[in-house]
Amino acid sequence: RTLEENGYVEARDVALPYCNTCQTFLADRFLVGTCPYCGAIARGDECDQGCQRYLDADQLINPRCVTCGSPAVKRNARHHFFKLSMFTDFLTKFNKRLKGTALARNYALGWIRQGLKDWGISRDLKWGIPYPGDEDLVLYVWAENYAGYISFTEEWARQTGVDWEDYWIRDGKIINFIGADIVYHHAVFWPAILKGVNYNTAYAIVASGMVKVEGHGLSKSRGFVIDIEEDIIKQGIDLDAVRYYILSYTGYTKDLDFIWKDFQIRVNNELVGILGNYAYRVLLFIHKHFKKIPQGTLTDEVTSQIRNTVEAIDKTFHRFRFKEAADAAMLLASFGNTLFQQSEPWKTIKEERDRAQFDLYQCLQVLKAITILIEPVMPAISERIWQQLGQDGNIHEVKVEECTEPLVPGTKLPNPEALFTKIADETVEALTSRLNQRIESARAKAK
Ligand SMILES: [Zn+2]
Ligand SMILES: [Zn+2]
Repeated sequence: RTLEENGYVEARDVALPYCNTCQTFLADRFLVGTCPYCGAIARGDECDQGCQRYLDADQLINPRCVTCGSPAVKRNARHHFFKLSMFTDFLTKFNKRLKGTALARNYALGWIRQGLKDWGISRDLKWGIPYPGDEDLVLYVWAENYAGYISFTEEWARQTGVDWEDYWIRDGKIINFIGADIVYHHAVFWPAILKGVNYNTAYAIVASGMVKVEGHGLSKSRGFVIDIEEDIIKQGIDLDAVRYYILSYTGYTKDLDFIWKDFQIRVNNELVGILGNYAYRVLLFIHKHFKKIPQGTLTDEVTSQIRNTVEAIDKTFHRFRFKEAADAAMLLASFGNTLFQQSEPWKTIKEERDRAQFDLYQCLQVLKAITILIEPVMPAISERIWQQLGQDGNIHEVKVEECTEPLVPGTKLPNPEALFTKIADETVEALTSRLNQRIESARAKAK
């Protein structure tokens, strides 16, 4: 309504694709044809299988009815249009200042340069949200989807007792985490609509890469899938390891090619070899000799090493470079390993017990910091280390400032347990052949 009052929407008579056999207009997914850009089979509003472009029904080559296959004919109808072209300057500026992934920005700027067409936002369909003031029509789904983000915020704000307008109207910072296939809607349509009603537009758009399995695009019908239940949980593989793999491989924003062999290497070398090894070694040694947190105070070296890691991770989050956050936490574990190795507690424990306690205290504090820092990526593992550190309270509520909050000497430590198990070659072989079988049977079914 506000868009209409502000003069951004107008009704026009247009010739639209129509099926004489089914006696119905062919909107969006009810119309198919060939994409003029890439030649893939596309639907009436987008090239969803091919180049992902937003399309106008007129652009389709050989358009026909999805239901009966008849060629589409043209028939006049009155529809409502959002004057997207009025926002060309705004959208150019918006995308130039937009933070997040370059992918989103560059796609959008390219589309804007090609020229923006006004956008039909009403549809002649039996289902959907009635078009305000013209109840025979419904709103195009992509025109009202984004409103869901706002109503979710309202709902959440009601439950938590904050004001949703702080986020959407006053100085809120909106960040959209999306798949790369819906950049057009988030970087072109919605900023224009939000601007048209004077709501906050996104501060950043972070578009994820595509997921592949062993080099092929994810596809359930072709068998290129990883089954979380069958392939991961039932194999005794830690879900946190999968989360770590995805993040440290792609940082979320690059394409991910899920390869079992590669997964095994990352888990065994990094999670088992560096993080798991460090935690277990330190905790086991301390438990054997003291059964509680040893006496000590934090050295400046350890304090500043932890602080630097916290700062580095803070920066990567603000730049949406999540892979670097995982790397920084792993680097701190390597630092801890070196610290343990160089202080040689297995020697000092015999003649200089106080020295050993003091050194081990540093190692334990490093582990505490790592535990807090990996929590967003490996929530279950961090819970387990937290418990092994003899800490009360919920790790998920611990603030990052507590990384340098000194551990309390004398706190009882439980029996330590290994955090990760190595992924055996046989497991990888079994999972790879299971995947191949899945692909084979999908191929047979298709025939
Ligand atoms: Zn295409
Ligand atoms: Zn038809």
